[in-house]
Amino acid sequence: MLYGKNLIDGAWVGSEVTLASADLDGQVFAQASPEQIDVACRAARRDFRAYSALPRATRAAFLRECADQIDALGDEITRTAMAETGLPEARLVGERGRTTGQLKMFADLLESTEYLDIRKDAALPDRAPLPRPDLRLIHKAIGPVAVFGASNFPLAFSTAGGDTASALAAGCPVIVKGHGAHAGTAELVGQAIAKAMEACGMPQATFQMIQGASNETGSALVTHPEISAVGFTGSLAGGRALFDLCQARPVPIPFYGELGSINPMFCLPEAMVARAAEIGGGWAGSLTMGAGQFCTNPGIAVMVKGAEADAFEAAAVAGLQGTAEQVMLTDGIKAAYEAGVKTWSELAPELAGCPAPKGARAAMPAVFKVSAKDWMATRALQHEVFGAAGILVLCEDTAEMEALAEGLEGQLTATLQMDAGDTALGQTLLPILEEKAGRILANGFPTGVEVAPAMMHGGPYPASTDVRGTSVGTLAITRWLRPVSYQNVPEALLPADLRD
Ligand code: NAP
Repeated sequence: MLYGKNLIDGAWVGSEVTLASADLDGQVFAQASPEQIDVACRAARRDFRAYSALPRATRAAFLRECADQIDALGDEITRTAMAETGLPEARLVGERGRTTGQLKMFADLLESTEYLDIRKDAALPDRAPLPRPDLRLIHKAIGPVAVFGASNFPLAFSTAGGDTASALAAGCPVIVKGHGAHAGTAELVGQAIAKAMEACGMPQATFQMIQGASNETGSALVTHPEISAVGFTGSLAGGRALFDLCQARPVPIPFYGELGSINPMFCLPEAMVARAAEIGGGWAGSLTMGAGQFCTNPGIAVMVKGAEADAFEAAAVAGLQGTAEQVMLTDGIKAAYEAGVKTWSELAPELAGCPAPKGARAAMPAVFKVSAKDWMATRALQHEVFGAAGILVLCEDTAEMEALAEGLEGQLTATLQMDAGDTALGQTLLPILEEKAGRILANGFPTGVEVAPAMMHGGPYPASTDVRGTSVGTLAITRWLRPVSYQNVPEALLPADLRD
């Protein structure tokens, strides 16, 4: 059952300003007031010390309880998310599993001290000319963290998603701003975490959740003096605005925004000779998965023009024409997609003549073709169009392919389709792509981000606002930690994990 309220300092509270959800039969959601945001941030700061000081095993048990409570609400969460987002049941069931899996992964991470990167430099009292002190370093929780739920992952990147799981694991209280596109799903998951807090006896402001459908809510949250860091997944415009607010604060704070990326795919000549049609079909499948609403969607396929490129094009077009229309997440995202496709259609010929969508909020894929020279000269073709829109970029030769790679903005991913005969070109491209992308793939497609210790989901701006951070995988916890050194501090005062 939905309360339609905000979870603030352990209580579900309403407010004077409400919004009704058309997707949930008019269910009303209270929008957090500035005063309530202030109360939430102060409560998070109050409980920070107690929560961060809990033994690692206690926090791990809490994360596992969160996962169990989410599983217990399972079908209700899926039904609500289907109504709000239009995403299919199988996708949402899978995303729930990924969400609970992430919580358990961070619980497992807390079993060892490895993530704390502990360093100990023993004292050298007899060192000349000066003795060396006893120095010990450990990573401590950074403070209360604000998390913005993402529209395109109502579970895995939202209320109990990777940002929340990693921040709670680090020892940081979390305040989630639910995304207006799935307020009900956000609240249900919030209810599950509230139950877990109660079951585990956590400080009551360990996790809080506010709703808000105006920029004021997010702005008030990130500028509040008691917030120490922010996790965000969303648009370049929104993320940049919030990043700028964080940097302009009297005390600037880290803002980890995962923004936009076109995820270029380079199809090298030998691979194209061997399997151009297979790659083209695979690209169409990756591009249209989930109506293309993935940050890792491969937006451009780059290849040398010729017979192989023609075979790629034919297979990609065949794949697209077999795609049924899909529902987009929000009216706003559909409108942005259509505007982006319109802009591209004025600059490059469209390949797949897909029929117009019939359903409300539905969209069809769109693929365009352009020369590398024109693509490099046209800024509007280089921006992400969020949805199933892609561009086939034709180079004169491999030198032009390298030039295109050199000119790329920061990316979440870059893909090489290559065979053994492409190794020399791959060796030339790799150092360029390493500077441009957080993850480099060979002979695969970037959609489908594995949740694992070696995953990097971030990249140079504008893919993210901090090139050092990942929002997926165990390394995500480092965003919410800060190093502290202890010099000659007596054993009795040291954090438990730093003692001999
Ligand atoms: P969004 O507009 O960036 O919103 C994300 C969150 O940030 C929402 O909670 C929003 O709340 C808040 N927000 C946005 N601008 C703000 C501002 N200036 N000040 C304060 N808060 C702000 O993203 P979206 O609604 O998810 O989708 C819109 C577009 O984002 C899509 O069309 C797509 O281009 C992009 N997107 C990208 C990814 C990705 O993974 N790269 C994922 C999802 C969406 P309020 O609206 O309540 O202010």
